Amino acid sequence: MHINILVFHQSYFDPTNFHFWVNYHFKCTISSRSNKQTSYLLCTSGKMDVPAVNTSFTHSQPQSWAGQNHITSAMSPTSWKPNANCPPTYHYPYMNPKHQSSTEVSLAPMTHKPSESRYGLDPQLLPSVVQVIKEDRVQWEGKVFVSKSKSSVPPLSSTRCTLEDRGNATPHFIRCTTYSFPVDVQSAQKSHLPLGATVHPLAVPERGERSVPVCEAGDCVKGCGHCGAFMSPALSWQDCGQRFYCPFCDKLSEVPWQSYQPTNQGRRVDLERKPELSLGSYEILEKRMSNAAVLVLAIDVSASAMRTGHLEHICQQICSRLQILQGTEGADQSDLRVGLMTYDSRIHLYNLSPTLSRPHMMIITDCEEMELPVMEGLLVPLKDCRHIVERVLQEIAFFKPKSDERCGSQDLPVSAAVKIFQASESPGKLLIFHSSPLTERTDEKSSSVFFSSSKLKSIFQGPDSSTSLAKECVNQGCCVHTFVFSHQEVGGAWPGHIPFLTGGGLICYNSLQSEMEQERFQADLSRCVNMQMAFKAQLKVFVSKEMRISGCYGAFIAGPDSSRVAMAALDWRTTMAFEFTHNKSLDEARGVAIQFVLSYSTSSGESRKRIHTVTLPCSHQLLDTFRSSQAESLLTFYCKKMYSLALETPLQSLREELQTEVTEMLACFRRHNCTTSASPGQLVLPQFLKALPVYINSLRKSEVLLPGLRGSVQQRLQLRCLIVSMDTMNTASQFYPHIQPLPVSGSNTNMPSVEETVRCTASSLDQGGLYLIYCPLALLLWVGSRVPPQTLLQLFNTNSFSSLTSGKIKLPVLENFLSISTRDLICSLQSQAAVTLQLKMVKEGDSCEESLQHLLVEDKSPNGGASYADFLFHLHVNSFRLIV
Ligand SMILES: [Zn+2]
Repeated sequence: MHINILVFHQSYFDPTNFHFWVNYHFKCTISSRSNKQTSYLLCTSGKMDVPAVNTSFTHSQPQSWAGQNHITSAMSPTSWKPNANCPPTYHYPYMNPKHQSSTEVSLAPMTHKPSESRYGLDPQLLPSVVQVIKEDRVQWEGKVFVSKSKSSVPPLSSTRCTLEDRGNATPHFIRCTTYSFPVDVQSAQKSHLPLGATVHPLAVPERGERSVPVCEAGDCVKGCGHCGAFMSPALSWQDCGQRFYCPFCDKLSEVPWQSYQPTNQGRRVDLERKPELSLGSYEILEKRMSNAAVLVLAIDVSASAMRTGHLEHICQQICSRLQILQGTEGADQSDLRVGLMTYDSRIHLYNLSPTLSRPHMMIITDCEEMELPVMEGLLVPLKDCRHIVERVLQEIAFFKPKSDERCGSQDLPVSAAVKIFQASESPGKLLIFHSSPLTERTDEKSSSVFFSSSKLKSIFQGPDSSTSLAKECVNQGCCVHTFVFSHQEVGGAWPGHIPFLTGGGLICYNSLQSEMEQERFQADLSRCVNMQMAFKAQLKVFVSKEMRISGCYGAFIAGPDSSRVAMAALDWRTTMAFEFTHNKSLDEARGVAIQFVLSYSTSSGESRKRIHTVTLPCSHQLLDTFRSSQAESLLTFYCKKMYSLALETPLQSLREELQTEVTEMLACFRRHNCTTSASPGQLVLPQFLKALPVYINSLRKSEVLLPGLRGSVQQRLQLRCLIVSMDTMNTASQFYPHIQPLPVSGSNTNMPSVEETVRCTASSLDQGGLYLIYCPLALLLWVGSRVPPQTLLQLFNTNSFSSLTSGKIKLPVLENFLSISTRDLICSLQSQAAVTLQLKMVKEGDSCEESLQHLLVEDKSPNGGASYADFLFHLHVNSFRLIV
C-alpha cells in the first residue's frame, strides 16, 4: 500500500495588514500497487504572519499563482506566487537569533489548549509518528521478517517481530537509509537522500531469535585474498566452486583445495553447515588469546574530596560490588585482576600482593613524566586480593590529607592507569571516583599548536590534552568511567571527553546525601562493573567497488581513514553510522554489498571477529530509492552525522543543512513521483517517510543543536555524547518520546498497552489524566490538575493534588491495580534504559513543566524551536519553490 499525504494551500495577500490569508487543504491519498486511490480532503484556514526575516516576502507585489488559479480563482481575490527572487534557503523565523528573545521563548507554565500553529494548521491532521508505529505493528507484530539478499524495507525498530537471517544481516545489526540504492552518480546527488548504514555490531537478538553463530578460525572458508573482505553470501561462486568473485574489490580468488566444495546452481553443497556461506552475521573465534581485561579503581582522596564526606559511602559501595563480583555463581569473576589507586595532586599506587602482610603504598610525585615504580602487585586476581582491597578502602575515609594539598585533575588517574594497562599489556576498565572541583588540564605542550592552528574550536571539542590521552587509552583498550560527586559550577571544565571517547561514560551526582542519589550511584556502579564489553575494537568497513566510504559518525576519535574505526571498548548498545558515495554507476544485477568486520577481544581475552554483511538492490528509478527509505533510519543517520559534525561546524550551518537537505529531498521526490498530475501546491511524502519532518524538526531543535536560554553547556555536551551512539530504536524514541496515558477511573480497567501512546503535544494531555512520558534519557509522570482524588489516593496515597510535590519521586508501594501496574511499567522501563532513569513527577501548572515541554516535540520548544506544524509548512513552501 502507498500512502501520500498531500497538503494544498491557497493564499492571498492582504497589503493593509501584511498578512497572507491561507486556506489549507489536506488531502490524504492512499493508493495500492494497482494504483487505486482513495482521497480525503480536509480543509482549514488561517492567518500566516509574514516572517520578518524574509523581506522579499513582505514587499513583493501580489502575483497570480498560475498553478493554483484553476482552484483558487473562485475563492480568493488575489493569488500568491512564491517569489522567484527569494533566497532558496529560507531562514526559519524561530531559528533566527533575533527571534530568540524572551518574548518568543515562552517560559510560562503550559496552557493545555490545543497547540496552535502560527499558520493555522491543525496539528492533529498532520502525519503522526504514533500512527506510523501503530500501522507497522499491525503489519508485522508477531510475524517473521526474512532478511535475505536484496530484501525489502524491514519492520520498524519498535515493532516486535522475529528477524531471521537468511543471507543478509538482520536490521538488529544493520539498518540502511534506503533499501534500494540509485544506480548512477547523478541520481544519487539529485535525490539528496543520504546513502548510509547504521551498524549496531554487538546487538543482542530478541528472545526466540538465533544468536550469532560462532565458528573456529581454522574451519572457516577464507575470504578475499586481495582486499581482506570476509567470506559471506555477498561473494559469488564461479567455475563449480573453484573461484569466487569479491564485490568489494571486483577480483576473483581461488579456493585452496583444502576448503574446496563443489557448487550446485551457484550454491556450495556445504552451504547449510557453514554460517559464513549462508548467513549475513557470524563470528570467528581466533586461536590466539590475549590478556584478559582488568579492573582499575581510582579514588580521589584530596582534601576537598575528604570534606565532601562521601568517601565512606563510595568505598562501602565499591566493597559490596567486589563482593558480588567474586560471589556471583555462574559469572564467577574471581580471576578478574584488580588494581587500586588513590590520588590528590599525586598518584598513590598499592601493591596488593597477598604475600605482603599489609598493602604497600607507593607515591608518584612526578606526574608530568610519569613512570611506574614497580609492576608487581599492581594488578592481582580478585580472589587473592579482595581482603586487601577492602582493608585499604576501609582506611581511605580516615586518611589525613594535608590541608594545603592541591587537588588533582580528574585526568591524572587516566595517565597512571594507561601506564598500568600498557605494562600489563591488558585492556580493561578504569573507574574514577572524583569528588573535588573539576579542573581543566593546563595544556602547555599543545598551547602553541592551539594558537597556531587556524581551525575553530567548538564547545563540543575537548582540549587537545584530553584527546591525546584518549588516543592512548584507545590504543591500549582502556575504557574510562568517571563518577563525579562535586557540584558542577556552570562554565567549569567538563570531564566527559575522555570517558565518552573510550566507550565509557560520565555520571554526575549533586550529593550522595539523599537516599535516591545513593540508590542511583549503586545502580550506576553495578552496571559499569557488570557491563560486558568488547575491548580493543577495530571496525573495518567494505563496500562494493563502485562506491566509497565518505564518512563515519559516532562516539569515537575519527581517524583519517573513514573505513576503519578504532575504539577502546564498546558495549552491546554502541551504534555507528557510515556514509557512502558513488565512484561510478552500480551494476543493477549485482546490487551493492556492504560488510562490517569488528575485531575485538572479550573480557576473558578471546580474540573474535564479528562479520555483518548486507546486499541491497539498486535501481534506475529514484522512486524506488525513496519508497524504500525509512524515517527512523534517516533520523538516526542524520543524528549521528550532525552530532559528529558539531565538533567542527557551526550549529546554525548544521540546522540549515538539515532543512535544506530534507527540502531538496522532498522536492526531488515530488518531481519524480508519478502522481504529480495532482495540484502543484501539494507536499507529497513517500510512504515510509511520513514521520521524517517531525523527526528532523525534533533533531534540529534538540538542545545540542539549538542552545536555549537555560540549557547548560555541560548538559549539552553530555547529551551529545549519550545520543550519538544510540541505536535506531532509542534514537527514534529520544526524538519522539512515548506518552502513555494511565487508567484513571475504576479499578478494573486494563493498563493501556504500549501501543496506546498519544502524540507528543500538550493538547494530548487531558487535565483529568495521568501520563507516563518516557524516552531513553528521561522518565516523567505528569499529573493533571483534575485527576479524581480517588486515583491520586491509589497512586500517591494522598487525595489532594496540592499536597503533591514535583520532582524526583518513588511511588509508594500500594496494593491496588493502578499502583502495581504503574510501578511494574516503570520498573520495566528502568531496566531497559542505558542510564539509571529516575522517575520525576511533574504537576500540571508547576514551574518544572519546562522539562516536559522539551519532550513535547510537536509543540514550540522552550529553547525557541519551531512547532511541527510550522516546520512542515515551511518544508512544503520551500520544496514547492524549488519545483516551480
Ligand atoms: Zn576483495
